[in-house]
Amino acid sequence: MIYPAPALHIAGRWLTQASGGERYVYNPADETPLGVLPLAGAAELQAAAEAAQRGFSVWRARNAHDRYTVLRAAAELLRVRAEAIAPVLTLEQGKPLAEALREVRLSADILDFQAEEGKRLYGRTVAPRVDGILSQTVTREPVGPVAAFTPWNFPANLPIRKLGSALAAGCSVVIKPDEQTPATCMLIVQALLDAGVPAEALNMVCGDPAEVSATLIAHPAIAKVSITGSVAVGKLLGEQAARHVKRFTGELGGHAPVIVCDDADPAFVLKASLAAKYRNAGQVCASPIRFYVARRHYAEFAAQFARGAQALRLGPGMDPQTQMGPLAHARRIDDMERFVDDAIDQGAKLLCGGRRVDRRGFYFEPTVFAEAPATSRLMQQEPFGPIAVIQPYDTLDEAITAANALPYGLAAYAWTRDLATAHRLGRELEAGMVGINHYGVSQAEMPFGGWKESGVGQEMGSEGLLAYTEVKTITVGVPG
Ligand code: NAD
Repeated sequence: MIYPAPALHIAGRWLTQASGGERYVYNPADETPLGVLPLAGAAELQAAAEAAQRGFSVWRARNAHDRYTVLRAAAELLRVRAEAIAPVLTLEQGKPLAEALREVRLSADILDFQAEEGKRLYGRTVAPRVDGILSQTVTREPVGPVAAFTPWNFPANLPIRKLGSALAAGCSVVIKPDEQTPATCMLIVQALLDAGVPAEALNMVCGDPAEVSATLIAHPAIAKVSITGSVAVGKLLGEQAARHVKRFTGELGGHAPVIVCDDADPAFVLKASLAAKYRNAGQVCASPIRFYVARRHYAEFAAQFARGAQALRLGPGMDPQTQMGPLAHARRIDDMERFVDDAIDQGAKLLCGGRRVDRRGFYFEPTVFAEAPATSRLMQQEPFGPIAVIQPYDTLDEAITAANALPYGLAAYAWTRDLATAHRLGRELEAGMVGINHYGVSQAEMPFGGWKESGVGQEMGSEGLLAYTEVKTITVGVPG
């Protein structure tokens, strides 16, 4: 069996049993159990936070170059182990194996970049305002032990975004991956430990999510909270962090618009859009959802989009023929059905899909709607699944207004061959990431984060590292 026995990493030891009980981890492709996950109770959560406190003293005392060497070595281990980690990721999450392999390799790239950035945690010197001052410096120090929460949709990439930056800055971590996808995170934690991260600086827990977050966030050892997840849970954790005046980063949900301009090449846009939309069965925070298409291209674009969606081969992620895997769990199917029923009730046109697939596993048909009313749930809430909606527009002003109309502001995309329009869209779309003429907004070197309710702060890029630091000013006067 390539799926490892699920375990928690607390205070330097892997635990296969814990006081919070246990739960099964299921394979979404066929609903069979993969393993039994121990759940942390109050005792283990306390132990994890205390270990992170001790681990922080050890790890922060290492010099930046030393930490860089360890994290670079961990990135190499991820590359060497990628072909062993990827099937585990596919088994517990469902995405096609090729996507899983790419995710693990990209995670190594993110870790590399943050390791490098750790050597460049620059400060500055400031000219004194008064006499008798020898130096005035502004420095950055690691913020302290971090409580990190990640969802199941990118079980390698999302933990590494937090672990890479936190560890590169000199912080220790207690990470809670989603209970559906613990094993990928275990293998990442193991690679970091094998490369030399001190055992107590890196803890991994799973449990009852509300209990884990409330306990860790309130614990005096925890200095920073970082969550990737839905807007609703992000608000909850943000409130808890604020109550204790703890630093907070929230990478939350999105509802990405795509503007296909009058001068775009619809065939080119279509090919890229189908691949982006149905990657990971649409369970991607930056997934394109609302396509606003210039009236001239609208009818043909919508018809071809539906044809392309219908032609996708669904199946288990372990099958090399599969283009779209199952959804991650049964609740996602129920949610898709609610989006579809509401859109139909409100008069949207269903162009294809809309149903659960009649086979074992959590499969849902690639679905395309057109002309959905602004009041429909689909046009207001993140579907987080394989559903796209195609809307015609007449003027670019109208399209930009519609694109910016929601409280989300994670990613936005546009397609145009006109340079002035490209720059206008870059300026006017209200999102943390704007992709013009491609969908590749997630890169190790570039900050990734949401505007409006889509989040607070960024990950990756140099901003990702700074999020795990505190600013300190030190001023030294002439003695005696
Ligand atoms: P979720 O909010 O349900 O869960 C995220 C994390 O919070 C998990 O660890 C989960 O166990 C925990 N959690 C869940 N309920 C909780 C509660 N009541 N109290 C405390 N913790 C709780 O999100 P999800 O459904 O697992 O993931 C999908 C969401 O994540 C989508 O909205 C997606 O857009 C978002 N996401 C955002 C980004 C980004 O970078 N902005 C990236 C990936 C996913």
